[in-house]
Amino acid sequence: MKESLMAAVLALTLLFGIPWLTAKEAAAAAPSAQPQAESGDTTAAAGEKDSAIKLKVWNGTEVQEMTMAEYLPGVVRGEMPASFEEEALKAQAVAERSYILYQVAHGPKENHPTADVCMDSKCCNAYVSAEKAAQNWGDTAADNEAKIQKAVQDTDGYVALYDGQPILAVFHSSSAGKTESSGDVWSSDLPYLTAVDSPETGDSVPNYYSTAAFAPADFQTTFQAAYPQADFSGAPDTWIKDLINNGSDRVEKVTVGGVTITGVQMRTLFKLRSASFTVDAAADAVTFHVTGYGHGVGMSQYGANQLAKEGKNWQEILAWYYAGISIETYHGS
Ligand SMILES: [Zn+2]
Repeated sequence: MKESLMAAVLALTLLFGIPWLTAKEAAAAAPSAQPQAESGDTTAAAGEKDSAIKLKVWNGTEVQEMTMAEYLPGVVRGEMPASFEEEALKAQAVAERSYILYQVAHGPKENHPTADVCMDSKCCNAYVSAEKAAQNWGDTAADNEAKIQKAVQDTDGYVALYDGQPILAVFHSSSAGKTESSGDVWSSDLPYLTAVDSPETGDSVPNYYSTAAFAPADFQTTFQAAYPQADFSGAPDTWIKDLINNGSDRVEKVTVGGVTITGVQMRTLFKLRSASFTVDAAADAVTFHVTGYGHGVGMSQYGANQLAKEGKNWQEILAWYYAGISIETYHGS
């Protein structure tokens, strides 16, 4: 089950990865055990610290040996804007550390059979070196780099665990009021990836609401390329029927030309920013109105930023989005 979920995650990452620095615009738990340490007071044992965790990293050309302390800042630089709140950046660092250790525990991917992880947002994680980030950041480079390093170092060695194992800590850019259960997007339900409220709104998220419009002929061509049996013989306003939302306000299923597909399939086909959408079909255009960005599973990054602004710390943010986890240092399985 985990293999198939990972394959689905891989496919979705491939489609909807969010390399923040390479493409500027670019994926209610009861709180459980909290770290004993306060922020900045790390108690990880020597062998559990990021500097002691060795990773084999595929850089696109060769396998590079890096410690978690070297690799993780590059991933945080690549996956979350440095302008976000410090506690959100810390939550991101712990989510990424957990995601990386989950990958290590579950074995290499086909893309890099001799490496644990890579530097490709389409496969594992967006990775941006300190030098590249400094170029992108310009005048704010020193402050931003200090924030990234602090987020990693203040959480040194801490991992989100479920049943004692690192979690598949997937995340997305912004939700649509609620996050999504993993089983509604991929093939498997994981107990810590359930739907929870997420506080971000259009006031704080760029392009929270988006539209995607298609000429009816183009809509038909695209749909029939994937579903040739669809019948578009009627007028456009008869094409789309029975749009049903799930409990997270995302489209569970919709019928197009007599063919019923999921909201996720519709999202993939028309490259929508999320599966939370309505659609109007008229003689001149088929128009989607979309809310949020990403697959909706796990932590919402803009939601994490909003929670941080409201005073939540990184442990509370992670416990909000990943149900039933504990946050602990980890010494391997
Ligand atoms: Zn990879």
